[in-house]
Amino acid sequence: MKLPETLLNTAELNGNGNGHAKAEAMGDAHVGTSKDTPLKADAFQLSDENKIEQIQEHFAAIMDILGLDLSDDSLSGTPHRVAKMYVKEIFQGLHPDNKPEIKLFENKYQYNEMLVERNITLHSHCEHHFVPIIGKAHVAYISNGYVIGLSKINRIVRYFAKRPQVQERLTEQIADELKRVLKTEDVAVYIDASHMCVSTRGIEDINSATVTSHYGGIFKSSDQKRNEFLQAIKD
Ligand SMILES: [Zn+2]
Repeated sequence: MKLPETLLNTAELNGNGNGHAKAEAMGDAHVGTSKDTPLKADAFQLSDENKIEQIQEHFAAIMDILGLDLSDDSLSGTPHRVAKMYVKEIFQGLHPDNKPEIKLFENKYQYNEMLVERNITLHSHCEHHFVPIIGKAHVAYISNGYVIGLSKINRIVRYFAKRPQVQERLTEQIADELKRVLKTEDVAVYIDASHMCVSTRGIEDINSATVTSHYGGIFKSSDQKRNEFLQAIKD
């Protein structure tokens, strides 16, 4: 693969201890750096098949360095399995082609109260450790004359979750997309999730969970609306 000169230089710079030092300094802080997922300009120049091929090679190298015998029956298929899982499953939300198409309907029911979709299954991956984030998302909106199919809310959550993520950014991205699609600021997103990088390594706290929220429009200005939402998502 040939990278444009400028990108190569950046890659080299980051690789020259600079990026490593930054990662060390960041440690387990889990602070996101941008609302947009940081992507390279040429992120989608390679086909999925080409990406799988290359990741497979690199993952085999990681296993080899770890000392694993790749000729073993149980391990020989792992590099391909992992590569395919990265591109086609757990990180498929990186590719704009996989963004769900949302059809907007007129609010013919004249339902003008809050709609809450709660307990949406959330499976994502922490971008600092590449291990799972597992939790639930709760979403609400108040129609501004338009509605979308209920399952489309799940699809939007799923699309942004299928990326290397930080929970803060994931929350904002879901809220932004819902606002854009529904043409309203009156959107609330609440995510309650466990991070495997906290529970299965490092501090190894299996009980802690992380809660993030975004309250737009009336959910921000009205305590009553916000409480109504929080009441609705209570178990
Ligand atoms: Zn992490």
